[in-house]
Amino acid sequence: QRAEWALLKDQQSVSADGKHFTVGANIGAPKDMAAVLNNGAEGVGLYRTEFLYMESDHLPTEDEQFEAYKSVVEQMDGKPVTVRTMDIGGDKHLDYWKLPEEENPFLGYRAIRISLDQTDIFRTQLRALIRASAFGDLWIMFPMIATLAEFRDAKKIYLDERAKLEAAGVVMGDIKLGIMIEIPAAAVLADKFAKEVDFFSIGTNDLIAYTMAADRGNDRVAYLYQPYNPSILRLINNVIKAAHDEGKFVAMCGEMAGDPIAVPLLVGMGLDEFSMSAPSILQTRSLMKKLNTADMKLLAEKALDAETNDEVIALVEATVK
Ligand code: PEP
Ligand code: MG
Repeated sequence: QRAEWALLKDQQSVSADGKHFTVGANIGAPKDMAAVLNNGAEGVGLYRTEFLYMESDHLPTEDEQFEAYKSVVEQMDGKPVTVRTMDIGGDKHLDYWKLPEEENPFLGYRAIRISLDQTDIFRTQLRALIRASAFGDLWIMFPMIATLAEFRDAKKIYLDERAKLEAAGVVMGDIKLGIMIEIPAAAVLADKFAKEVDFFSIGTNDLIAYTMAADRGNDRVAYLYQPYNPSILRLINNVIKAAHDEGKFVAMCGEMAGDPIAVPLLVGMGLDEFSMSAPSILQTRSLMKKLNTADMKLLAEKALDAETNDEVIALVEATVK
């Protein structure tokens, strides 16, 4: 099986009936790029930049960030790289940057909420990203977006930094601007967001946790982590449809994107990009080759009308052998 997968390294990801999907990689740092290239990723669908902050003993400077982003973009050699602005908070803490202690950190001050409050830190990151965009195809997305106002505020700050760098004669690329869909409010209101963003990336790790109101890391409630629960599938389908109705691109960068039970359903719903940890890429590409999109569309319709997580698993297993 591994030998069969290895042959797929330099191929595109296509279904049995010839529809192309992008299969990309999730990374946390430039050092992850060897695995990305060895597994034939068609892009980086999620660069988690908070590790740059967590592995440092000071707030990373604009130049330190620029070097990291440039390195990743250059190594991808023109293939798209989606960089997520920092998602600190929740369970991720820094010694040198004291954030408030909170009763419910996962419902508290984290990610874009911090960026929009401590805008100097956000602006530094955006400048580094805009400068790195000259070296390839760089996309930017904001984590933990709940409201349109948050996206509009973040975009305004981005455009302001871009205008200042342009006025200073700095070279930059066209940057696509998108959001993570990982809060149910944004998934429900996806049709409105789709009019304003360039793309979505669905973060199912948090989307499932917040929809089921079950902590991702708590074993006692682990039974509620149900990726195929029709409630989750309906949210995902709503997001994909909303994006496509506006002609926008929709990716997924949560664990579900590389899950063999979820992939047939997501192919059926028409997801554009699947981004996952590098070791899952070739296996996913191999699975896609066996799937017919019309059959998967029918399978997805049945799954969306199912009642339980287990019922959906049985449906997929009966269809995809
Ligand atoms: C997600 O929530 O699905 C996601 C990709 O982000 P993270 O796992 O970094 O929270
Ligand atoms: Mg998340």
